Amino acid sequence: MTATLDSFGRSINYLRVSVTDRCNLRCLYCMPPEGVPKISHNEILSYEEVRTVVKVAAKLGINKIRLTGGEPLVRAGLPKLIKMLSQIEGIQELSLTTNGTLLKKLALELKQAGLSRVNVSLDTLKADKFQHITRLGKLNDVLEGIETAKKAGFHPVKINTVVMRGINDDEILDFARMTCEEAWHVRFIELMPFKGVAGFVPSGELRQHISLLGKLEPCASVTGNGPATYYRLAGAKGTIGFINPLTDTSFCSRCNRIRLTSDGKLRPCLLGEDEIDLKKALRNNASLEEVKRLILKAVVSKPEHHLLKKDSARVVKRRMSQIGG
Ligand code: SAM
Repeated sequence: MTATLDSFGRSINYLRVSVTDRCNLRCLYCMPPEGVPKISHNEILSYEEVRTVVKVAAKLGINKIRLTGGEPLVRAGLPKLIKMLSQIEGIQELSLTTNGTLLKKLALELKQAGLSRVNVSLDTLKADKFQHITRLGKLNDVLEGIETAKKAGFHPVKINTVVMRGINDDEILDFARMTCEEAWHVRFIELMPFKGVAGFVPSGELRQHISLLGKLEPCASVTGNGPATYYRLAGAKGTIGFINPLTDTSFCSRCNRIRLTSDGKLRPCLLGEDEIDLKKALRNNASLEEVKRLILKAVVSKPEHHLLKKDSARVVKRRMSQIGG
């Protein structure tokens, strides 16, 4: 099935599905210490509803699904959803973004259910700082989770690192060195201006800093669906990627995705405010034709580019955990 083109000729083949707004961490840049008001359980899409959306999306050329949250692994029975989605014709890749704290317990089951890949978010390699950034987590749980994922057969494990001035920007070289020793694909992500977020560091600065360790050779061979650009230090087992939503002016031209929030809203753009209410249609017994029409509406209403700037006063109203990062 060929992917549907949006109004700017981009091929949209990727759906990010948030399965919960709940998280077992409270990362500084993502949630306030007390958390955010929880969406009630009956407002969250059931696994059957998610399956219906993915089935229809697959008929429109969506072939990659990423499950996210909140923390997707805190939702009960997630392997069941993975199994359901992996059986849908046309879905070629089913991946998960997680904070890694529950991977030790679940990695094998996820693999057996049909999950293709995992990305683990990890912003520091220091135990005390990990506790400071996440407010609730233990670094060791994540490191053990990554090891378990590797043993379960997830290759490569990608590590997502959000860089914050004065918090973890002193660890850039440590992360870069990790790619020499381990087959880690570390991706540095520019901090996005969600509510209550500060400490932006442009990726260009990171690249300059990392070049102290040696030349960064462009590396096109890492598979990915996103707008990251990859490099490798000479002789390194892993790679270093940069995801620059704020400083890369061509970032949005490579966007291939739409998002489904846990409460059933389709978002054409992570950093926009437009939402299309799919849950209402699903719960009013809409026909599959109507579901298809709404998904197409999200595709064609994707903006050409987001309007955020690093120093912009404008912030996205929902938090990342409520949208699905
Ligand atoms: N709990 C999962 C996890 O930790 O990966 C999935 C959800 S989390 C919201 C998804 C990703 O969004 C994480 O990599 C997180 O670091 C990133 N994120 C959250 N807030 C962000 C922000 N303001 N700027 C950049 N990335 C952010």
